[in-house]
Amino acid sequence: MNTIIELKHVNFWYDRGKPTEMQALHDINLQIGQGEYVAFFGPSGSGKTTLLYLLSGTEMSQEGEVMVNGKDISKLSKREMAIYRQIGVGMVFQQFNLIPNLTILENVGLPMAFLGVGEDKRIKEAKLLLERLNLSALAKRFPYELSGGQQQRVGIARALANNAPIIVADEPIGNLDSTNANNVLDFLKELCEKDGKTVVMVTHEAWSLRDAKKIFYLKDGVVEKVETNHAKPATQILAEQLYKQTAPKRAQESKERAVASTLANVLFRGFSAEENMRFSDFLTQRLTGQVDQVQFLELLYKPFREGGGGLWKKRALETSRYVEGIIQEHMDVEGICLELEKNPTAPLLHEIGSLMEWLLDRNKIRLDQLQESRFRQVTTEVLRNAIKLEAFKEALYLPKSKLGVGLSHRTTERIYEKFKLALGNFELEPLSPEKA
Ligand code: ADP
Ligand code: MG
Repeated sequence: MNTIIELKHVNFWYDRGKPTEMQALHDINLQIGQGEYVAFFGPSGSGKTTLLYLLSGTEMSQEGEVMVNGKDISKLSKREMAIYRQIGVGMVFQQFNLIPNLTILENVGLPMAFLGVGEDKRIKEAKLLLERLNLSALAKRFPYELSGGQQQRVGIARALANNAPIIVADEPIGNLDSTNANNVLDFLKELCEKDGKTVVMVTHEAWSLRDAKKIFYLKDGVVEKVETNHAKPATQILAEQLYKQTAPKRAQESKERAVASTLANVLFRGFSAEENMRFSDFLTQRLTGQVDQVQFLELLYKPFREGGGGLWKKRALETSRYVEGIIQEHMDVEGICLELEKNPTAPLLHEIGSLMEWLLDRNKIRLDQLQESRFRQVTTEVLRNAIKLEAFKEALYLPKSKLGVGLSHRTTERIYEKFKLALGNFELEPLSPEKA
């Protein structure tokens, strides 16, 4: 499992250097895996909240390292830290911390407003979140008009607003009756299992530890004990449910030829076998760099009897544009894969985001927040070589209720074909009889 948070020899003092100095944390060392649900458990005053503040960048570590995705967040610049707090972690509080004179919808949209997300999009996303937490009917109300359980659900919706990969919750059930407390715990578990979020919950009530896969016992600012519930982490269960095969490694030399052949099959369906072979040959030349973009285009529309592809100019241009897009994306994908190999937890938000955008036809295929988060997860897993493309495809097609992205068959096929080409990582399809 990939480590997402790691603390090394962390010490923390309140009022350091003053007469009231008080050391709240002593030499904390701990690791939290990506997609894990962990708990900090201990009596009041044991340092749980302080620890959470360090993870979320609310307080800066004074000694030791607080590594998130392999980066020491106490070394971030002010600006980077602000961004980390906005999109890196979502926080849920015991006292809910809703803004009293904003409506529920506005409260949930607030983190997006801080990020500069436009009003229309903000409202749209906030509505989706309210829907997910069963709060749609309360969108126009103010916090004081809601029960504690409802307010905490708003608090959770707000924590999800910027789609942060880490959710921290400080005694989230401390002010709730047992029914509402159970609902909140169920939802935190769901966030971990279905959305792949890393969840860190603080509690002093033992019964509420039921879903935590790892429990850090705190006392007087020291981690006294770590208990691991050996059930597999949620992302692993998800991965196993969806993906059963292991990725075979293909020989590098024949890669371009394989890409070319598949590409030819995709682009030139309905052409004769002879034509197809010729296109395949041109594509190989282009992919191996024997011809450049312009020469490739010329090959495509040169008359067939003169050894060209004989395409109409418009069709040749479209084909060329498509192929150049794939070449470009293929290079980018290689870069991302290399980076992920070196550093498995590298976030690469921007790069993966632009790959996703390309796969989604410049966002012509619209996803809601849940779909997007699952789509991001499976895309990243493919790039990490954690799952096979077949499994990626299956995940896209699976309904949302079954932990999939819930895309149509056609859209799934389209995205799958594109990703396959960009990766250049696939087997040669056997030629069908009429083409052979
Ligand atoms: P917990 O969340 O487990 O109850 P905290 O992290 O809030 O514990 O507190 C750990 C210790 O640090 C306690 O002894 C508490 O009194 C002290 N402490 C917490 N916040 C402050 C603060 N702002 N100034 C001084 N001491 C603090
Ligand atoms: Mg506390």
